[in-house]
Amino acid sequence: MFPGTLGGGVVGRALERGIWSYDTINLRDFATDNYGSVDDTQFGGGAGMVMRADIIANAIDSVLKGKKKIIYFSPRGKVLDQKMAREMANISDFVLICGRYEGIDQRVIDEYEIEEVSIGDYILSGGEIAAQVFIDSCVRLLDNVVHSAESTANESFEIGGLEWPLYTRPSAWRGRKVPEVLLSGHHGNIERWRKEQSDDITKERRPDLIKID
Ligand code: SAM
Repeated sequence: MFPGTLGGGVVGRALERGIWSYDTINLRDFATDNYGSVDDTQFGGGAGMVMRADIIANAIDSVLKGKKKIIYFSPRGKVLDQKMAREMANISDFVLICGRYEGIDQRVIDEYEIEEVSIGDYILSGGEIAAQVFIDSCVRLLDNVVHSAESTANESFEIGGLEWPLYTRPSAWRGRKVPEVLLSGHHGNIERWRKEQSDDITKERRPDLIKID
């Protein structure tokens, strides 16, 4: 599953250039039986299996070596946003745990003070996609990953709302024209138009992003 989507585009090139790196370990290698079992039935009953604390702990111990932050991807976690991505991009070494089944035994979360991170209010089958979303959002903020720092600074959420509409060549397409102001070369007017568009779109689609001072 890795690098998966992380092997392409700007993040993939940054991986090739050694700006970031990762190792994966397979929890099954830490199983204590001959079948490679990592899960068991839930205490208290109920459908679905739970990943065992002892096996996850052995896996964590094998890679921890001074790393301070352990993240477990979980729908119960704090929801990833751009602010969190910026904070996490400053941390140099992580252990990321991708869950399967119903999730992991609570005791391992408590024992290692693991931080839970969600990528949104829906249920995925496993944490691998969540890990790739998380890594992508952090890596693109590292120096020399995205071509210019201006590109990351001008994106939705970084500008205090959602991005304005984007246009490129051809200037007329299927009878649809590019807004005149963008062809005017007048930087002040362009900036004002973009700000207005961004404010209107944010108000309409994501009023929760608007800060009231
Ligand atoms: N029983 C869990 C619950 O109700 O919260 C859902 C388990 S889910 C089927 C299996 C794994 O997928 C989780 O342990 C987690 O690692 C990952 N996962 C699912 N949804 C996620 C989300 N929204 N954000 C982050 N990870 C998620």
